[in-house]
Amino acid sequence: MTEQTPLQLFNSLTRQMETFTPVHPGEARVYSCGPTVYNYPHIGNMRAYVFADILGRTLSFKGLKLTHVINITDVGHLTDDADAGEDKMEKMAAKEAKSIWDIAEHYKQAYWADVRALNIRQPAQWTIATDYVPQMIEFAKKIAPTHCYELESGLYFDVSTVADYGRLARANTEEGEGRIEKVDGKRNAADFAIWRKTPQGETRQMEWDSPWGRGAPGWHLECSVMSGEVLGFPFDIHTGGIDHREIHHPNEIAQNQAACGCGSLDVAAHSGAQFWMHNNFLVERSGKMSKSSGEFLRLQLLIDRGYHPLAYRLMCLQAHYRSELEFSWEGLGAALVRLKRLLMATAQVKAQCADAGYAAIGGWGQKIAPLMERFDTAISDDLNTAVALTLLEEVAGMKKVPAVEKLGAITAMDNVLGLNLLGLERADLRLRPKTATITEEEIEAVLVQRKEARAEKDFARSDALRDELAARGVEAMDGDPLGWEWKLA
Ligand code: AMP
Ligand code: ZN
Repeated sequence: MTEQTPLQLFNSLTRQMETFTPVHPGEARVYSCGPTVYNYPHIGNMRAYVFADILGRTLSFKGLKLTHVINITDVGHLTDDADAGEDKMEKMAAKEAKSIWDIAEHYKQAYWADVRALNIRQPAQWTIATDYVPQMIEFAKKIAPTHCYELESGLYFDVSTVADYGRLARANTEEGEGRIEKVDGKRNAADFAIWRKTPQGETRQMEWDSPWGRGAPGWHLECSVMSGEVLGFPFDIHTGGIDHREIHHPNEIAQNQAACGCGSLDVAAHSGAQFWMHNNFLVERSGKMSKSSGEFLRLQLLIDRGYHPLAYRLMCLQAHYRSELEFSWEGLGAALVRLKRLLMATAQVKAQCADAGYAAIGGWGQKIAPLMERFDTAISDDLNTAVALTLLEEVAGMKKVPAVEKLGAITAMDNVLGLNLLGLERADLRLRPKTATITEEEIEAVLVQRKEARAEKDFARSDALRDELAARGVEAMDGDPLGWEWKLA
């Protein structure tokens, strides 16, 4: 089933759709730029990892042995992606009056909690930047003589020493470079620090000795080193959000070219990876996505308002990863209803399988096979999750097909989409805001009384009980086809 449709992926480096052929037959090696753990991730950041997860699951679906690496940046990322501004970690540590190590640990755990909540599979390895500093120094020592120069503030990479610098960004124009802050003595505007010296008379919480003085590595250096160390150059796919296409990834590519002594980027492998893939942004009109705007959209905020986090995952899957996606609470509500419908259908199929006494699930017959093929075609078409979702719904709604076959197909599809349809319970998807003062048991108890009243045709009492619930923010939903039964306002 898995080998018929070739996997087509959009390569940002060539700006073309290309057929995926693994560097190492039977394997897929993927590196995703991870979060800088100076603050909570917002749901836009998490879109980047839902995308990387769908990519990984698709590669597994294609029968490839996946090695996925996601890094954790706990040093070196400045408030500007180029060389300006303060170290994000140092800045937050000062603000919260904590050690950087404590800050990093706290926000790394918060990020991992979101990863679990969104049913993002664990990568083979989480690489932590501060664990790789000796390797970063070795890497820098190797490329320094031919590609770098030293300034008062650190060791800089001369972008004119590699071929095709900036091809990924298509932005090496005057205008593009105008965004990069000037550092006195830089040979080219786009040159970037690979080692930042601690200024005289200052100490940083995180600093290491190096041939260029005490200091800290540049952010771009981290990813070149960790991806190369763990996956080996060239590996298959490097992912990140679309903002990384402009500065971070072109700089990583330049370092990789320097390290391998590679020439023109006409050969994709010279960049360090065969494919560079980027998810577009999640946007929100009122600016709640920006971490500098006070309350920003964290996954926990969605959960506190009563939404199951997988409703957000489904919301992401409704859009193509290369399209911008606008967040709205209405959209999230609609995604939750869609997830609920899918779950109800799956629960029914599960119950039918249990009634029939067979727990084993496996293949499917002629009726389902064409849908599975279309699913494979959709997901192989640069991860068209929007179409794949509709096919999952089609299978879930099929009539006159043995339940055991349906369950097999739903399982196979959900292994790619990751909505956890077999693990979720209906009650998990009830809208349940954190501010609710009434417990589920209390609601259920009133609903039982109300059922009795209705059975006795005591409609006055039934209405009174309904009003009692309404006064406590609960909407009783009679005859609701989705079987919510009740909803908390
Ligand atoms: P950071 O922790 O800032 O390095 O970001 C983590 C990841 O989230 C990176 O891959 C970014 O490109 C990505 N990202 C940042 N903002 C958004 C957004 N609004 N929508 C989607 N991805 C984003
Ligand atoms: Zn990176």
